Amino acid sequence: MNSQYQVLLPKWIITVNPSFEVLADYALIIKGSRIHSLLPANELQIHESYPGAKITPLPDHILMPGLINCHTHASMSLFRGLADDLKLMDWLNNHIWPAEQQWVDQQFIDDGAQLSIAEMIRSGTTCMNDMYFFPDQVARTAQRLGMRAVVGLIVLDFPTVWAKNADDYLHKALAVHDEIKEYSLVTSAFAPHAPYTVSDEALVKLSIYSNELDIPVHMHIHETEFEVNEAVKNTGRRPLERLDQLNLVNSNLIAVHMTQLDEFEIERLAETGVHVVHCPESNLKLASGLCPVAQLQSNGINVALGTDSAASNNNLDMLAEMKTAALLAKGVSGDASACNAQQTIQMATINGARALGLGERIGSIEERKQADLIAVDLSHCNTQPVYDPVTQLVYASNSRQVSHVWIEGKCQLRDYQLLNLDTDEIINKAQAWSDKIRNKA
Ligand SMILES: [Zn+2]
Repeated sequence: MNSQYQVLLPKWIITVNPSFEVLADYALIIKGSRIHSLLPANELQIHESYPGAKITPLPDHILMPGLINCHTHASMSLFRGLADDLKLMDWLNNHIWPAEQQWVDQQFIDDGAQLSIAEMIRSGTTCMNDMYFFPDQVARTAQRLGMRAVVGLIVLDFPTVWAKNADDYLHKALAVHDEIKEYSLVTSAFAPHAPYTVSDEALVKLSIYSNELDIPVHMHIHETEFEVNEAVKNTGRRPLERLDQLNLVNSNLIAVHMTQLDEFEIERLAETGVHVVHCPESNLKLASGLCPVAQLQSNGINVALGTDSAASNNNLDMLAEMKTAALLAKGVSGDASACNAQQTIQMATINGARALGLGERIGSIEERKQADLIAVDLSHCNTQPVYDPVTQLVYASNSRQVSHVWIEGKCQLRDYQLLNLDTDEIINKAQAWSDKIRNKA
């Protein structure tokens, strides 16, 4: 059984290719880390063409591209449930930032990232776009555990455990970018936290670096009405206008949240090719505002999906996020056809890949792309009978039905069991952190 081939035999394949083909009774062949081919299962001569290949029957399953969580802070899972039912600035200023100051170090980052990666793989996420301290450690943890990641090269104006000042953050950002060049699963993006925490000077520098290195800029923008009003009061401009004047509004920008947008701004996002990441559950929980997803989509803007951190969600479950996004868009727009099941699946896969600059490598099932795949078992009562696997996935399934996950062709979850992660140890470490934090908070 040392063949470089694997043969997957699902009931349905949701390809998320440009014509959004859904195939029934096709086989998918993986060769090494890549998708090799798709063939009608009845034409397949498995034993002759792929001798020794590992064969995985998936008789009641959807096979689809792995989900891409386009905005999270993985290690913050160790703060899950620490502060709930609070407004964003109260939550940040009086709870999260003090806790970070007291507890975050390299070990915290490693242990928190492991907890999140276990949760993400178990629930069908194969790639995360992360923003947090010690991105070098997040990169090492992700690569070691077999999780695909874009690590955020964090930039702030004030000192933290990671860096002293804006120049120090930028210096470390470039060092991490260099350090991870050889990692097969990890790339990087600049991650200036938000317009209100990073100065013009630092933003100008990182916009030059981002253009030179051609890597994305991942930033919280227009998360709340308060943020926009404060900026107007202090600078006379809305944050997006300021970023535009600093040369950051372009197709490298991954703008997270965007709950406050006027007609002119939406037009500007469309003409510059900015990517928007919608985080509906975090926006709802922090009462931040509502992103006009249907309006962005009808203007041709690429909208991806993220959970934000488990401290404001409180999970990293992308299938749940997809359902929330689809329902919320209908409620916000007053149009039941808004954010349909197909668009919702695209938001959680190919749109995320495009935002991250990885659209040629992941996000859909097409030959030669990386084999980042998940299987969802529809044999459960809550997903029977099946008229349409696409709508069934979005409106009826849940993450406990994710049975198999492959990342870079390597099986990470088989028959609901994580293969390369010690969940007992990961949970013990998380509990040890919560004991420390609870006793001293
Ligand atoms: Zn966030």
